[in-house]
Amino acid sequence: MSEVEKIYEGKAKILYPTEDPEILLTYYKDDATAFNAQKRGQIQGKGEINCTVAAALFQLLESVGIATHYIDRPAPNQMRVRAVKIFPLEVVVRNIAAGSLCRQTGLPEGKILPQPLVEFYLKNDELGDPLLSSDRLFLLELATKEQLTQIQEMALKVNDHLREFFWRCDIILVDFKLEFGLDSSSRLLLADEISPDTCRLWDSQETDPLARVLDKDRFRRDLGAVESAYQEVLQRVLAQI
Ligand code: UDP
Repeated sequence: MSEVEKIYEGKAKILYPTEDPEILLTYYKDDATAFNAQKRGQIQGKGEINCTVAAALFQLLESVGIATHYIDRPAPNQMRVRAVKIFPLEVVVRNIAAGSLCRQTGLPEGKILPQPLVEFYLKNDELGDPLLSSDRLFLLELATKEQLTQIQEMALKVNDHLREFFWRCDIILVDFKLEFGLDSSSRLLLADEISPDTCRLWDSQETDPLARVLDKDRFRRDLGAVESAYQEVLQRVLAQI
């Protein structure tokens, strides 16, 4: 693998080219970062776990007609994906108030939202990924009105299916981040990953607000037992898929 020149290395994944320009190989790393990479560490086994969870969820979404970049998983921590031009947007869907929504609005953590909330953040580490209004999004020409509507509809559809799936795993899907891109035929595809790194997942059988956390917040907030929480998500997902 190392002989092949990487295309891009991000905080959690490395992208390699393949012989087919329409296909990329993604390598999931154990590296973990939080707070715009101010906090760094490793979560043992995370690459394999996230790659396996993401592959399972992408396949689930494909089976209900949601187009994703997923092709296959040639190794436990490697995923072949369709090459896309990524919209520089972090699309966050929330079912329950947590994280920045609470910090910025004063809503109490755990408040069930009357309906799912879809938010757009600018994918720009230097600017700290600011929350965008739709007018700012159009001002920056990040997407057209039609594309934004399509992204919003797809994000809500993803939420419906994932929320129901995780509920069967005894997991509450609190919120999550999605990324979208266009393939060479300008088809909108769900891209990046869906994993305990990018979702807030609470154990529905646990009422203790710290013990119920099964996602990257265990790393962000130094709650301990990070690896075992990721393993727990993996086992529950594999048992239900
Ligand atoms: N998220 C992510 N990458 C980011 C920012 C957020 O995957 O760069 C996910 C995060 O794990 C959570 C959701 O998006 O599931 C909402 O995050 P929030 O805006 O509350 O930010 P945070 O509190 O993590 O700073």
